[in-house]
Amino acid sequence: MAVAERRRLPQIAAAADEATPPSQPRPRAHAKKKRRDWTSELRESLRSAADLAKAFALTPAEIEGAARAEQAGLPIRITPYYLALCDKHDASCPIRKQCVPVADESTTIPGDLADPLGEEAHEVAPHLVQRYPDRALLLATDHCGVYCRFCTRSRMVGDGGGAVSLDKLAPAFAYLEAHPEVRDLIISGGDPLTLSTDRLVRLLERVRSVKSIETIRLATRVPVTLPSRITAELVRALRPFHPIWVMTHFNHPKELTAASERACLRLVDAGFPVMNQTVLLRGINDDPDTLEALFRGLVRRRVRPYYLLQADPVKGTGHLRTSVAKGIEIMERLQGRLSGIALPKLIVDTPGGMGKVPIGPDYVVERSEGRTLFRTHRGVTVEYLDP
Ligand code: SF4
Repeated sequence: MAVAERRRLPQIAAAADEATPPSQPRPRAHAKKKRRDWTSELRESLRSAADLAKAFALTPAEIEGAARAEQAGLPIRITPYYLALCDKHDASCPIRKQCVPVADESTTIPGDLADPLGEEAHEVAPHLVQRYPDRALLLATDHCGVYCRFCTRSRMVGDGGGAVSLDKLAPAFAYLEAHPEVRDLIISGGDPLTLSTDRLVRLLERVRSVKSIETIRLATRVPVTLPSRITAELVRALRPFHPIWVMTHFNHPKELTAASERACLRLVDAGFPVMNQTVLLRGINDDPDTLEALFRGLVRRRVRPYYLLQADPVKGTGHLRTSVAKGIEIMERLQGRLSGIALPKLIVDTPGGMGKVPIGPDYVVERSEGRTLFRTHRGVTVEYLDP
């Protein structure tokens, strides 16, 4: 089958997904549709400027961005599934802007950093980062289903290293064994769910051999960009290693398709709490109506909107970032409109790896001995007296 024909199939599938509201019975024809295997989806991903030019009507800024991405910086990768969510003729499409490079990626503005969270400075063993006493971050691969243009780890993802072997991770595990204060291990990368199931199981067996690790978190964008990866076989293989929390990363309501819903519900039904971190991105989701639709849709899928992250100051992403004031203004508009389970915390992960800071509108108008005056989302002030 010609490449162009192969690429049309997932577009049709996604269009059907989008047209079917969540939790509605699927039409029979849809149920019979053959689903693509995730490994063939990865093989058929767009990976070059030439691939992008065949799939999209590229703007001059995208043509320049794609050429640059091939030579330097963050590589290109878009799965057929995620491609099908993109508008091929409109460069302002919020999905397309997340995955198609533009010329602005070569612009550096004040405050930009290659490693905004200071992960290299906090590396305690090869591939292991510790920024807080009770938790650590294991970077298990540099591969992802899609290379997101705002990625905090653009300095290292897709650099060709691939999956990190258990031998190479030996010093990281020795560190964890010597530091029982680390109870929560976040496995990230890259995207750990791009590892084969066998490799993932071997990694989890090794993690579970460290008795002091209580909780495992899998940080993955696969439910958003490659939902076919969340197979019954994968879920069965991961269950013995509970408690595992899945930290995913939906940024826009267009990503809430029937396929991503199936992936999330499969995880939740198997006992994996699924939490979502959204990055606030200029021209993609920086308005309250878009975020309200996203957070409500996530809750309907039993996914908890956990953080709304002020975008990290990654080199070459200034065109995608908003001001801190914009994030606070959006939170002010959402407070009272959304229930507590649908409203994430707005977080700035401070540069240099100094830790996360929750921010938001200030509701305290006045504070004195035993008395606080609050402003509520209704615009009234209310007095609260201490006991
Ligand atoms: S999936 Fe995550 S690690 Fe990979 S490019 Fe996107 S944001 Fe970066």
